[in-house]
Amino acid sequence: AVFARTDAVEPKIRSYITETREQAMAQAAAVDAKIARGEAVAPLAGIPGALKDNICTKGIKTTCASKILANFVPPYDATVVDKLAAQAAVLTGKANCDEFAMGGSTENSGFFVTHNPWDTDRVPGGSSGGSASAVAAGQAIWALGSDTGGSIRQPAAYCGNVGLKPTYGRVSRYGLVAYASSLDQIGPITRDVTDSALVLNAIAGHDGKDSTSINAAVPDYTKALVKDVKGLKIGLPQEYFGTGIQPEVAAAIKKAVAQLTAMGAEVREVSLPHTEYALPAYYLIAPAEASSNLARYDGVGFGHRAPGSDIVEMYKKSRSEGFGPEVKRRVMLGTYALSSGYYDAYYLKALQVRTLVKQDFDKAFAAVDVLITPTAPTTAFKIGELSDPLAMYLQDVCTIPINLAGLPGISLPCGFADGMPIGMQIIGKPLAEATIIQAAYAFE
Ligand code: GLN
Repeated sequence: AVFARTDAVEPKIRSYITETREQAMAQAAAVDAKIARGEAVAPLAGIPGALKDNICTKGIKTTCASKILANFVPPYDATVVDKLAAQAAVLTGKANCDEFAMGGSTENSGFFVTHNPWDTDRVPGGSSGGSASAVAAGQAIWALGSDTGGSIRQPAAYCGNVGLKPTYGRVSRYGLVAYASSLDQIGPITRDVTDSALVLNAIAGHDGKDSTSINAAVPDYTKALVKDVKGLKIGLPQEYFGTGIQPEVAAAIKKAVAQLTAMGAEVREVSLPHTEYALPAYYLIAPAEASSNLARYDGVGFGHRAPGSDIVEMYKKSRSEGFGPEVKRRVMLGTYALSSGYYDAYYLKALQVRTLVKQDFDKAFAAVDVLITPTAPTTAFKIGELSDPLAMYLQDVCTIPINLAGLPGISLPCGFADGMPIGMQIIGKPLAEATIIQAAYAFE
């Protein structure tokens, strides 16, 4: 059924860089045979889903939507891929994204643009845009994305899906191609909260192959699927409802919160005073880490190599030809921020701001259980509309602080403006995925 959908809609949507149909049919047949034998199967057994193309798959191209990795075939699977295989989940293919996950619209893909299934003149969001469009268009039942500054939650919001960014360290990053290692986290994009809990159950947990992975027991997140928010303390951070937020978006969130109040939740206004500094801090820290992580693409070990008369020329040409404009912009920004003489003024200062942002959340969470905000300031914009990189960066204003603080956040649909879905973000304390899943499920 999902392949029939893909046949029908893929020419207009373009969710996939690589499809893995043959392998998928074999995986599905193996599950069918197991069921026919009367054997027990895991919850995701036989359920088809897509992976963002920055998650390594053994023997299957993993391009990061970059020309520099256009023909890269990893020799190993990411830990999340192993875990999904252990449940016999079926892989439909590798989904389009912004190059190296840098962007918020999937327009920075080195190969092609993905379209929003609700209105194909609009972007699906990004950077996990292909993952979100595939789920929204019925080309996959679930998908994995990666979220460094909003790349699971924002495309989920733009495509009317549920997107969950776990606590930093909850899900292993082993085999996720690094963008900004202190911020990156893998998580599910699904049609509803139940599926989100099921996929998180499958992928969460400690991993010795990721030194930043948290060694804490994984609860059964489906236990949080109860329609009960009585006594839940909700904080509304006033800084997330100010200028730049589309009025219909703010109104939809307020209406959703009123519904939760009617169900017995308690609401209060809170303040996160350093919010306005989160975005500039992120756009120093993330490019700084990216410039370091992307130094490995030099044409030597793997990826695109351009001919050159000497090694320096070969490096230069390989990187000039292989990287797209946004990646080059980030590498330049990051290299500048890390260079001697500027390090203290930019990179170190940004790290100090990051701590202040984290402390804002700590203080707020002393008084409330969850925070509710818009996921993005607007609904999905038109393809080509945000040609100015700064305007594009501003789309991340509601999601970035959560990555800086390492917190879990879920985006779920809460209404429409002009026929386009609006996303509501519920933010939790560290490792409180069950709490945000419960609040989301109660509202859904
Ligand atoms: N849009 C943000 C950026 O470009 C976030 C991307 C992400 O979360 N991977 O950095």
